[in-house]
Amino acid sequence: MTLELENLSKSFNGQTAVDEINLNVPSGSMYGFLGGNGAGKTTTFRMILGLLQPSAGKITYNGKKIDYDVTNDIGYLPEERGLHPKLKVEEQIRYLGQLKGMSKKVIDKKLDEWLERFGVPENRNKRIEKLSKGNQQKIQLIASIIHDPKLIILDEPFSGLDPVNVEILKTAVKDLNREGATIIFSTHRMEHVEELCESLCILNKGKQVISGNIDEIKSDFGQKEIIIEGD
Ligand code: ATP
Repeated sequence: MTLELENLSKSFNGQTAVDEINLNVPSGSMYGFLGGNGAGKTTTFRMILGLLQPSAGKITYNGKKIDYDVTNDIGYLPEERGLHPKLKVEEQIRYLGQLKGMSKKVIDKKLDEWLERFGVPENRNKRIEKLSKGNQQKIQLIASIIHDPKLIILDEPFSGLDPVNVEILKTAVKDLNREGATIIFSTHRMEHVEELCESLCILNKGKQVISGNIDEIKSDFGQKEIIIEGD
């Protein structure tokens, strides 16, 4: 399975937000989207997810035009967190799992496994608004992957978290990738991409500055570190 973006573009009211992006995300890879505010990361993700119609270009998955069956199965952690503060963790996850056609029994089992992995089994019956930011983000990750998606898109999953929780989330993302999921995530920080990914795409004002295998990019540039502006 490969996700391919070909000349993908999006304009809003005549303003170009994403400008002819071309890239290939191989199956089982971890792919980093790096760029500052307004670079076009979220807009690109929304097009892959079928939430926005591209102005031009195409998206293919396994060589076929991406369709609802694929987009509905993608695990998505949005930048603007989508949890309901008044729901208990188990109510929120059951609701989202059932929307994906899962049985309550299977949802509960997976939720227990993930809360165990994160070392917070006691959070199952707590209201989301009562949890710390780091613990809410763990629930947001569980919400996005409860249905075992093969492709997972995480929009700035580590932003706004303390260093301990960044490490916990990174470990979870690495585990998901090791267990077979293809993962794309966005970040403002090169260090996250270098630690987790084999490939990256740097976006700036909607344009693809550079993309591909990180080691190859580094050797092409003859330098040890890639430094981007704005962070
Ligand atoms: P950030 O790191 O701040 O989330 P980003 O890289 O995700 O940034 P986008 O949210 O994709 O960037 O925004 C790219 C550009 O498109 C910005 O100039 C933004 O203002 C514009 N944009 C995004 N969505 C819309 C919209 N629905 N209507 C109009 N303009 C939009």
